[in-house]
Amino acid sequence: MEVILVPAFADNYIYVLRDAASGKVGVVDPGEAAPVQAELERRGWSLTHIFLTHHHDDHIGGAAELKARHRASVVGARADAHRIPGLDVALGDGDRTVFGEQTARVFAVPGHTSGHIAFWFEAAETLFSGDTLFSLGCGRLFEGTPAQMWESLQSLRALTDQTRVYCGHEYTQSNGRFALTVDPANAALHRRMEEVAALRERNQPTIPTTVGMERRTNPFLRADDPGVQAAIGMAGAPAVEVFAELRRRKDHFRG
Ligand code: ZN
Ligand code: FE
Repeated sequence: MEVILVPAFADNYIYVLRDAASGKVGVVDPGEAAPVQAELERRGWSLTHIFLTHHHDDHIGGAAELKARHRASVVGARADAHRIPGLDVALGDGDRTVFGEQTARVFAVPGHTSGHIAFWFEAAETLFSGDTLFSLGCGRLFEGTPAQMWESLQSLRALTDQTRVYCGHEYTQSNGRFALTVDPANAALHRRMEEVAALRERNQPTIPTTVGMERRTNPFLRADDPGVQAAIGMAGAPAVEVFAELRRRKDHFRG
């Protein structure tokens, strides 16, 4: 499965997918239609599927226009059916959805929003995590509790190490500046930040990351790590409380 990054707005990524075996073409979280349409025209492709991770406008704003133009099918969360216009395929936790020769498994990942889902394409080991799991960070808790988000992140953390993670925003470098304040002794995090700095200097995306990389470097996946716990003065505390404290600190962080 081919994945093409389409930058949108200030720091969003929209993803165009193509399953080579069937020729099906999808898009994930088209916050705006124009850059997607330009990419499709450049390649001579037409859309068959529109995948949506959550209802925020910077992720669905272009869906209606693209659906109308291509007669594509809109795939999203059943829990958000009331606030995702034009939803055709409504899915919940554990459901599978077919895209050409690919199958994606759906994870319900509440926290950023109550209906947020993630798509894991099994054979391609490719995850679209929306605003739940970012590289070196996680989404803000607009509609969920720390306990919900921690559980959501644990389900994504359990995916295969080599799973490529495509998230909704290019936040890696600012996330990483915060991560260094709560996990300062993490050598893998320091190395990743050097790589990230080099990429951003050349205006290159830091996405995709991988589940293995995030497990080693993302503090929000490491609330049960003794090093992180000690660094914030919470050695031995329940992971969910550590997670809540990390999220609180990040909300107030000015890096
Ligand atoms: Zn969002
Ligand atoms: Fe977003």
